[in-house]
Formats: sequence, structure tokens, C-alpha cells
Amino acid sequence: MINSKCYQINEHIFFLTIVGEKQNKAKNILTPITARVLGTFNEYLTRFSTLSAKAGSEFTLAEERERSHLIGCYKNETASSSFVKGNIFAIQPDVLKVLCPYCMLDRPRTLDHYIPKDEFPEYAMFVRNLIPCCYDCNNKKDELWRNGTLRQFIHYYNDNILNHQFLYSELIFNGSGSIPRIRHFLRKPVAMARRDFQVASSHFENLGLLAAYDDSLNNRLSTEIQLILTYVIAGLSDQVITDLLGSQFLNRSRTYGVNYFEAIIYQTLANHLAQVKLVLI
Ligand SMILES: [Zn+2]
Repeated sequence: MINSKCYQINEHIFFLTIVGEKQNKAKNILTPITARVLGTFNEYLTRFSTLSAKAGSEFTLAEERERSHLIGCYKNETASSSFVKGNIFAIQPDVLKVLCPYCMLDRPRTLDHYIPKDEFPEYAMFVRNLIPCCYDCNNKKDELWRNGTLRQFIHYYNDNILNHQFLYSELIFNGSGSIPRIRHFLRKPVAMARRDFQVASSHFENLGLLAAYDDSLNNRLSTEIQLILTYVIAGLSDQVITDLLGSQFLNRSRTYGVNYFEAIIYQTLANHLAQVKLVLI
């Protein structure tokens, strides 16, 4: 997992541009509320950590027309909003052009409103709130983003927690010489704040990632173990095999992050090398 890249734009000017592009009916509703909308943008940009404690939107349910037209800034595209949406995808790192940052399993084909647009319509077309992700994650996340005041998902622009390794896996051997099973789990790094770890844990829980990673790798574990067999047959020492597996982990984690299950498997195989060799004998 790595952070997404936020498309750099002046959010205030962008909103004013969209309003300017709207037809008169929408323009007449959006223009009088511009200052209030821009005020909420400042909150997101400068006091993001306080937003999950906010009771609700700047726009009350009674302001139905305003809320609807704010959501319309996202749904009913103008030249600028369409251009910016395209760029949000286009500027992502290569890895995140093909893998959803939320799960690292599928292609990112949708834009997630990190803070849902129905709850906070002011952030419907706010670029910093729009994160490319896959259909599955977007559906699972749906309207959920906080539980009480605790955020429930990693914010891939704002949270700087992914350089800490908190995802691990272990092999479970059944003792009969057959291929072990893999099990993923989370462990809080010492240097990571408890609240950050809670956000990461909720993210994994809500998206069912640990089980998804188990399933994905259990299908492939025998292939990886066969690879180790070729090392053993070639007469490589345990230390060399451990180093080879360690470098596989390092190479992948450099590109995909230290919390990428496809990298971590090599760390896990290295940690269990003695037991893996017993399976091969
Ligand atoms: Zn996903």
C-alpha cells in the first residue's frame, strides 16, 4: 500500500469555475452560498483531523436545493469538473493506475468520496476528498467513513502511516508434510500512534482485506514453496535463501509499500524457512 497522489489545484478557484460554468438555475443557487462552501474547504485543508468530530454538514437538511446542487457539481459534469476528474486518475503513481490503493487487489475505476457526498455535499467535488479506488471498495465503504468520532478508512492523501509495517503474515503447518496455510494479521508498530493504528485496523476490517489476502496467497503458496525447493536443490545455504527472499520483499515493498501482501509473503517465507524445508523433504 502506498499513498495516492493528490491532484494539485486551487480548490477555491476550481469551485468558482464550476459555478461559473453552470446554467443559470444552478448558478443562482450556488452563488449565494459560495463563501460558506469555501469556509468548509478551509476546514478540510487545515483542520482535517477535527472533521470526524463534526456533527454534520454546513448545509442542513432543510437546505435541500443547496445540497442537491452541491452534489450536482459532481454528478452533472462541466468542462472543468470532467477535466479534473480525468486528471485525478491520470496523475496517480504507476502502481495505483492499476491497483486500488484501498485493497491493492483490483483496478481503480471509480472515485471514492472519502467523506460521503450525501452527508457532506460541500465536499462532493472537492478534489482532496476524491480518491480513485475499485468498485468493490467503493461499494463496501458506501456511506461509512466514521464510527463515533473515529475514522474508519485510511485517507490515501492525508494519512502518512504507510511507511510503518503493520501487516504481517504467518504460515500454519499441519504437521503432515502438506503445504501450509497462510494467515495475515495486523500488529501495531511501536512508532505508530494508537489512533492511526485504529484507523488502519478499521480499514482492513471493513474491507475484509485479511481474508482476501489469505485466499489470494493460499492459491499460490505451493508455487512459492516450489521456488524454495529449487534453491535447496541448487545447494544454496539457508543464509543465501533467506537473503534472496529478503531481497524479494525489499524490491516489492519499495514499489508497492511495506504493507503489500505480495511483498510480505517473502518475509514470511524467510521467517519460516526451516519449517518450509521440512515440508519439502
Ligand atoms: Zn479496492
